[in-house]
Amino acid sequence: MEIWTNIVALCNQYLFNMQLTDILDIAIIAYLVYRLLGLVRSTNSERLLRGVLIVLLALLLSSFFQLRSLEFVLRMLMEWGVLALIILFQPEIRRILEQVGGSRFSFLKIFNKEQQLGDIEHAITVTVEACGDMSKSRTGALIVFERKNALDEVLRSGTKLDAEPSPELLKNIFFVKAPMHDGALIMREGRVLGAGCMLPLSRNVNLSRDLGMRHRAGIGMSENSDAVVVLVSEETGSISVAVGGMLKRHLTTETLRMLLYNELLPKDDETKEEKKPSLLRDVRNILKPKKDDDRHA
Ligand code: ATP
Ligand code: MG
Repeated sequence: MEIWTNIVALCNQYLFNMQLTDILDIAIIAYLVYRLLGLVRSTNSERLLRGVLIVLLALLLSSFFQLRSLEFVLRMLMEWGVLALIILFQPEIRRILEQVGGSRFSFLKIFNKEQQLGDIEHAITVTVEACGDMSKSRTGALIVFERKNALDEVLRSGTKLDAEPSPELLKNIFFVKAPMHDGALIMREGRVLGAGCMLPLSRNVNLSRDLGMRHRAGIGMSENSDAVVVLVSEETGSISVAVGGMLKRHLTTETLRMLLYNELLPKDDETKEEKKPSLLRDVRNILKPKKDDDRHA
């Protein structure tokens, strides 16, 4: 009981002595940790983070038990590891810095939100029209809509573009004799960012045998990220959508439109929630476990 009284007294004393700069200090560290967690989540590198934490723990233990050689090796590993991490995450770090640089007046983004939603809505309309046409002409297509998880790695495997989508552009890219028709097209925030990109194949061994590489790549992408993937089959002309490792097949253009609206545009209540301060919601999203089980196509 006495211990608790002492702890409470200590906390009170500490809080009393806390200055404005300390609060600022803690707030900055909390923000940096929050951004780091966001980066880890958006790059699917939870396992990497776990590895770093294990090495750190081993370093602490080796220092505590005075295992000099092990401590030396781990310390070297950490020092070089930081450099390796910077090289590995160079595109993501660059993106964050660009965001920080570009968000001088981040409150202005509230006004930009309408524009962003308009662009995504336009991309959906274009995709639905192009997929309808490609379905009729039996042209194979693979279109990935990026969401929170950044797909820079995938983009690097293809040809970089930055174009406003139109049905003509999409059909041109997937036209069977066009140089970029193989692979996937990537959409980010309503713009065509790349084409001819290689996607990771699905590891699901229970997929139907009539699904070839295009569909396995589409499902694989949706297993490895939160992206929404639209497919048109070259063999049957059938339109499908893959989300979270699940494939919805034989869609009409109207169902495709509804599905894309549901997945890519925030619902009214979500928009309202977005207008509230979002740090807590984002931390909740970051910490929320991903649905790994129960995936089948
Ligand atoms: P379809 O019904 O259109 O025939 P499918 O699922 O049967 O599709 P395949 O016939 O094997 O698949 O399609 C091959 C095409 O899929 C390739 O020409 C290529 O464009 C695309 N593709 C295959 N693997 C990948 C990959 N890893 N990433 C992106 N695209 C891929
Ligand atoms: Mg095939």
